[in-house]
Amino acid sequence: ATPEVLSGYTSVKVFSDNAKVEDGFIISDYAYENAIVKRIPGGMYEVTPNKVDYQFKVDMKVPKTGLMMVGLGGNNGSTLTATILANRYGINFRTKQGLQKPNYYGSVTQASTLKLGVDEDGNDVYAPFNEILPMLHPNDIVIGGWDINSANLADAMARSKVLDFDLQRQVAKYMAQIKPLPSIYYPDFIAANQSDRADNLIDGDSKWDHVQRIRRDIQDFKAKNELEKVIVVWTANTERYAEIIPGVNDTAENLINSIKTSHDEVAPSTIFAVACILDGVPFINGSPQNTFVPGCIELAEKSKSFIGGDDFKSGQTKIKSVLAQFLVDAGIRPLSIASYNHLGNNDGYNLSAPKQFRSKEISKKSVVDDMIASNHILYNEEKGNTIDHCIVIKYVPAVGDSKVAMDEYYSELMMGGHNTISIHNVCEDSLLASPLIIDLTVIAEFFSRVTYKKTDSEDDFEKFYPVLSVLSYWLKAPLARPGCEPVNGLNKQRTALENLLRAFVGLGPQNELKLEERLW
Ligand code: NAD
Repeated sequence: ATPEVLSGYTSVKVFSDNAKVEDGFIISDYAYENAIVKRIPGGMYEVTPNKVDYQFKVDMKVPKTGLMMVGLGGNNGSTLTATILANRYGINFRTKQGLQKPNYYGSVTQASTLKLGVDEDGNDVYAPFNEILPMLHPNDIVIGGWDINSANLADAMARSKVLDFDLQRQVAKYMAQIKPLPSIYYPDFIAANQSDRADNLIDGDSKWDHVQRIRRDIQDFKAKNELEKVIVVWTANTERYAEIIPGVNDTAENLINSIKTSHDEVAPSTIFAVACILDGVPFINGSPQNTFVPGCIELAEKSKSFIGGDDFKSGQTKIKSVLAQFLVDAGIRPLSIASYNHLGNNDGYNLSAPKQFRSKEISKKSVVDDMIASNHILYNEEKGNTIDHCIVIKYVPAVGDSKVAMDEYYSELMMGGHNTISIHNVCEDSLLASPLIIDLTVIAEFFSRVTYKKTDSEDDFEKFYPVLSVLSYWLKAPLARPGCEPVNGLNKQRTALENLLRAFVGLGPQNELKLEERLW
């Protein structure tokens, strides 16, 4: 076969027998190789390689896309909006360090690279992450959304105290034009201390009316801005957990009925999720609560609508998902992880209430579960199957958005020795989280353009499974397909994403074999 050139879309041209361009789509052939393992009593394993041939089809046209944030007037919402405007309009600003140009540091899709392969000398060659396939650029995203507080985004940005004044001064005129849509407020779900903010609310008590209203808001936003696609991200306050009650939120049908009868246990975030799912709008939950109750996941399955969650993986947990994995993979046995935080922004204020803190605690704790399960030499019935994992969050108004995280990893070494690693981390919380919203939006939009089929099947190309676990890199407590264990390790998450992107252009998975160097 003549190799096709996949060109004209990005700076990367791929010549591969396994991929071709047809009518604006890349169609690639991919042999998915894995190994099936059978555990045999007595500690033996039987491993058989297997291979399934898939075809992937990627729509190369990037649609005009809108991002609607729930919690638009919060620290993340206002910081992200100002950042996008500053980048879009090329607004430089002065800080005490000198002139600062806008950028998207902290965003994997905008500020990191992918290894493409090696040059003639066998040295690695990298390209920007968003150049291997056509992806949405944040400067082109149309921003909108909801907030229970009526402040326009210029005021919201000033209230957040995140960005330098000279930048605030220059973007204020654009920001002032953006006003959050009224939202849904069920006081029982967020901390009582948030009630003062609630001055921008959708009328009425009917939860089903609320679903319909949110659907209309999305449709209106789409029509007004002539958008082809909308992504919705929950970056509003952390809610308490919803109780899972049989007959109420356990199945799609029960959940819809419970919304129709305005049942108390249906949270605002679930109302937003359901509204999006019913219209096939991807919905991502950036907070820790269990928005995706079982009935909500079933509804997404039935509607084949994308969902992703939970809780942005920004600082402390991101390090944990690297460091704990490293320790366990190095054969060192973490015994305890103590994670302490203090912060002084509105998120911290909300989390100072016990039920909302509990949601965060659960989300932060789950991150090492799969690492423990991966190593039965270190974790077993005799030695113990757990890590003592303690999470503390305190509200200290003075530090504002500059969150302080202190972590202590206490581990067992060879011959009963011990190792303590202490980490002290300070940074503007919202400058870590906002780029994740970009990545989640860009990748969710991208995957909504990807379809696949088994090569030997007669079936049509189909969308990926609705729970978009490829987003896990950016999420603390990754939502997984029911019955599947979530993957928390950051490196595994990134490897999966990179290799999928490679598969879509007819390249094999990334390996670091480097035989050019190692063999004669
Ligand atoms: P924030 O308190 O500054 O902003 C939240 C906004 O949501 C507020 O403006 C509030 O008025 C609004 N809100 C509350 N309930 C709402 C509703 N029902 N509908 C619409 N708006 C509503 O918080 P933030 O710092 O921007 O963080 C947002 C969320 O992201 C929090 O839940 C936080 O836990 C989560 N998160 C943040 C980070 C981070 O690093 N900043 C990391 C992980 C998760």
